[in-house]
Amino acid sequence: MTTSSAKEWWDKDRQLIWHQMARYHPDAHPLVVTRAEGAWVTDVEGRKYLDGMAGLWCVNAGYGRKELARAAYEQLIEMPYYPLTQSHLPAIRLGEKLREWLGDDYLFFFSNSGSEANETAFKIARQYHRQNGEPDRYKFLSRYRAYHGNTLGAMSATGQAQRKYRYEPLVPGFLQVPPPDCYHCPFGKAPDSCARECAQIFDYTMNWEIDRTVAGVIMEPIITGGGILIPPDDYLGRVREICDRHGALLIIDEVICGFGRTGKPFGFMHYGIQPDIVTMAKGITSGYLPLAVTAVRKELFEAFKGTEEYDHFRHVNTFGGNPAACALAVENLNILEKEKLVERSATLGEQILASLSEMADLPHVGQIRGKGLLIGIELVEDKETRQPATPDRVNAVIATCKDLGVLVGKNGDTVAGFNNVIVISPPLSLTDEDADLLVNKVKQALQEHA
Ligand code: PLP
Repeated sequence: MTTSSAKEWWDKDRQLIWHQMARYHPDAHPLVVTRAEGAWVTDVEGRKYLDGMAGLWCVNAGYGRKELARAAYEQLIEMPYYPLTQSHLPAIRLGEKLREWLGDDYLFFFSNSGSEANETAFKIARQYHRQNGEPDRYKFLSRYRAYHGNTLGAMSATGQAQRKYRYEPLVPGFLQVPPPDCYHCPFGKAPDSCARECAQIFDYTMNWEIDRTVAGVIMEPIITGGGILIPPDDYLGRVREICDRHGALLIIDEVICGFGRTGKPFGFMHYGIQPDIVTMAKGITSGYLPLAVTAVRKELFEAFKGTEEYDHFRHVNTFGGNPAACALAVENLNILEKEKLVERSATLGEQILASLSEMADLPHVGQIRGKGLLIGIELVEDKETRQPATPDRVNAVIATCKDLGVLVGKNGDTVAGFNNVIVISPPLSLTDEDADLLVNKVKQALQEHA
């Protein structure tokens, strides 16, 4: 496998790789992974870890799927590349498959990452309004705590100042409103007695911003990277109604929630709404190859046809919809279907949530919440005040999980001291045995530190 010792690889890594998100620390080194199978990864020292985060919330079908490698290989031999300024069969086949998952009302624009899928959505929305005779509609509303990507527009839609302030000023026209954060309601309400102020704020903001300047709203069905915020059941429906009333498009970011993560094909399907635009990435290929999609309702697409001034969407990317990535994505969705992994996400998620909930009385466990295999454990210093747990406490839980052979995540936003949610988002193909082990180790770590 390796010609160098682990230490040599770590030294080379330090000299060569500028890591994402990581702070340099002289005594620390990243996990250098050499093999992966099922829900397990093996590092350069030969240690095995159960990957409770499915990489970056994306390896939905699990690691080591030879069918996926084969689908990409065969496509590369047959026809490795052609741009989608023209067309090719794998893209068309994936379009057909996505209609089965999403419904017949959509067309699909391909790109390479979730950030790009969101950028594409913003451009489509702005141009759509222009072509409909409403050129003043350029603003987008999103929520604090949400993450929508690293590019300038997607970052502008992101509601985490900590990720943004070093790069400002960003793109004008992006505004954030408070999220549906029932555990720390920004409006000081309780979920069973509130008036859904978190949804009504969109109505208020659109009025005060002048609604004919608002192009759209972008939101995840469940805020993921901001700390697994499950909205009240009627929240999305209310936002949909407000968007309709003000003529704004509703863009649903399914980059994490899509492809079974929450126990439905797409997260919005829990809430009985139809989005105007749906953005996808990550789980579409289970992370095996880069691919992203901006799904757009036919009605919007129709507005791009045959107008004299704006007869097309002038937006191109070289790699989007790469044939091998599309062929692999079709095979990936076939696997999710054949093995009923969406349903498995729902049932296994419920079981894991129920088992973890036995820890709810620990002094530093604030709330345990989730849908499907998307689970958050919010740690607090004080159960009464819900003051967030200190970084040391949160990091100790994560470090103990790792020592016990289980990788879990941490989310929220450090700027407000809310980086206190332990996240579990494993491959949907997790075996029962793996699920037991994952839960038991996380419980053990919580008992030690929470
Ligand atoms: N949207 C959401 C909800 C995400 O979580 C992410 C990435 O984590 C993105 C968009 C951006 O995706 P990418 O990292 O592929 O650009």
